[in-house]
Amino acid sequence: MIPITVVDVRDAEPYVLEVLRSGVIAQGPMVKRFEDTFAEISGVKHAVAVNNGTTALVAAIQALDLRPGDEVVTSPFTFIATLNAILEAGATARFADIREDDFCVDPDAMADAIGPRTKVLMPVHLYGQTADMGKIAPLAEERGLALVEDAAQAHGAKFDGRPAGSFGLGCFSFYATKNITTGEGGIITTDDDAVNEKLRILRNQGMRQRYEYVMAGHNYRLTDLQAAVAIPQLAKIEQITAKRKANAATLSEGLAGVPGLVTPTELAGRSHVWHQYTVLLTADAALTRDEFSAKLTERGIGNGIYYPKLVTDYACYQDNPNVIASETPVAKRVTEQCLSIPVHAGLTDDELATIVGTIREVLGA
Ligand SMILES: *Cc1c(COP(=O)(O)O)cnc(C)c1O
Repeated sequence: MIPITVVDVRDAEPYVLEVLRSGVIAQGPMVKRFEDTFAEISGVKHAVAVNNGTTALVAAIQALDLRPGDEVVTSPFTFIATLNAILEAGATARFADIREDDFCVDPDAMADAIGPRTKVLMPVHLYGQTADMGKIAPLAEERGLALVEDAAQAHGAKFDGRPAGSFGLGCFSFYATKNITTGEGGIITTDDDAVNEKLRILRNQGMRQRYEYVMAGHNYRLTDLQAAVAIPQLAKIEQITAKRKANAATLSEGLAGVPGLVTPTELAGRSHVWHQYTVLLTADAALTRDEFSAKLTERGIGNGIYYPKLVTDYACYQDNPNVIASETPVAKRVTEQCLSIPVHAGLTDDELATIVGTIREVLGA
């Protein structure tokens, strides 16, 4: 079986041992080192580590001081955490359709979704490619809206040379399957000194100085044991990304010209970090998406449907007044046609050849 994702963190051993020997196992110097390194990679002044990507989103929204009824405009084609974080922070979610070329929220649809209660634009940099920040960042600026980037899948991705997470409040995840991992973990990036301070207070029970509580906070802290796992990965993030890019190029070259198979593209001006390599199966393909998925599994090629439904399609949100669903036909169609195949940095040349050969064969190309 060629898995859809592999985790290789063996080179973290000395750093984890350093933490174990130090006796400081909760938030300490390793978290600080992780934050400083990540801030540098993201081209921002501050990075605030938290315990997962979902809490990164929650804390980012909380730092904006929204009022009940204030709205966040985002994509319906995303991991459920995007929506759950908006609700957890007490805001209302509104949705704009996506574009098929980057699978990210369409800036024009976003502009149309802005209403009198809109306070935040939250693009999701899906699969490792940023949304069209050349349009979304100026839109937020013109309309006086905050910008929160769900960059959970986009460590090191760039738009016109600018890193994901440097346009607004950047929220990253370090869950086990992400390009950089701490097992569970998250971080928020920002250039804003006041927001940085607020996030650090929110993360630590609302405490500014010892026992000086200035707001109702939470425990969002990451541990040094977890931060240690990321240190060597951050040192080689360029190589990890380069390998993913090379794998994606090999797949796209090998899968060119298969009827009904649309391969993903890195758009001009963007640097895609290939968290996922996601194809679309159109009506012209020899198999339906679900038949194709089953066939690949049978032939030992790991694959996954990210995502099989829009976040608003689940019954548990249907009667929630804070979830304002809308018609998003492009996103809807993509949920029916998408399938992700392995692109991770652990793939060998033989495995890449097997993936390409098997796909061409099962689709009769
Ligand atoms: C992984 C992910 C999250 C949540 O991160 P966790 O670390 O799993 O909490 C949020 N948004 C997107 C798009 C993700 O892929």
